[in-house]
Amino acid sequence: MEGLVSRLSYEEAVKAYLELMREDLSRAFDRVRRVLCVQPHPDDTDIAAGGLVAKLTSRGVEVAYVTLTDGGLGTMDPEMYPEKLALVRRREQEEAARILGVKELVWLGYRDGELQPTLEARRELIRLIRWYKPDMVIAPDPWLTYEVHPDHRAAGILAVEAAFFSAHPHSIPLAEGLKPHPVRYVAFYWTRKPNAIIDVSEYMEVKMKAVRAHQSQYMPALEDSVRAYMRLMGKLIGAAYAEAFKVLNPFMMHSNTFAENV
Ligand SMILES: [Zn+2]
Repeated sequence: MEGLVSRLSYEEAVKAYLELMREDLSRAFDRVRRVLCVQPHPDDTDIAAGGLVAKLTSRGVEVAYVTLTDGGLGTMDPEMYPEKLALVRRREQEEAARILGVKELVWLGYRDGELQPTLEARRELIRLIRWYKPDMVIAPDPWLTYEVHPDHRAAGILAVEAAFFSAHPHSIPLAEGLKPHPVRYVAFYWTRKPNAIIDVSEYMEVKMKAVRAHQSQYMPALEDSVRAYMRLMGKLIGAAYAEAFKVLNPFMMHSNTFAENV
């Protein structure tokens, strides 16, 4: 690489670096066989990536969701108690998962609004990754500027830390019997710097059906904003509707000054 860099101008060398990193990422969604979606609340994956999930499961890819919090704060109604809402939202997520062909749902049950990127939560996710053995982990982008929701920031950080450390043998005790597992890709949604725009026009109706299954959260304005954003992303690739992701390899996400621009 040094020989190459020394012969090129700065701009050419950066371009060569980025192309090298992009090589493996460009066909990530075509290569995956098992995907784990780490979401802060029931409904986040369906809203942000439900089209992709439907596209993957229709191709026979195994998809599982792990929901970190119980979703108990998702109401403006003072009469609706968090414990009751958490149960309602669990049923809603089960229905949405059935619609999208997601077979496995795991619930970690942290309190909504209070998720922190703790060592305990990271270890729980490493166990899950080693058990499920996904090629890809999907999560909200924790570096979304101005993201105020602590659960979204924490979920993204936890997901990628767990994806990174799952390959390190001693990140949880080997005596637990779960073998180290390298995660090949992470994909972030609600990202400012997408590098993979996925045409999901064919899966728009099934996605919106799944979004509407989250009845306790549903508002016509939500559906309109989801559709408008997907239309907007679609314009980037000349499709009716698209979803946008930042795809990286977890090992590119350490001491790498180019990751932001890949
Ligand atoms: Zn959320």
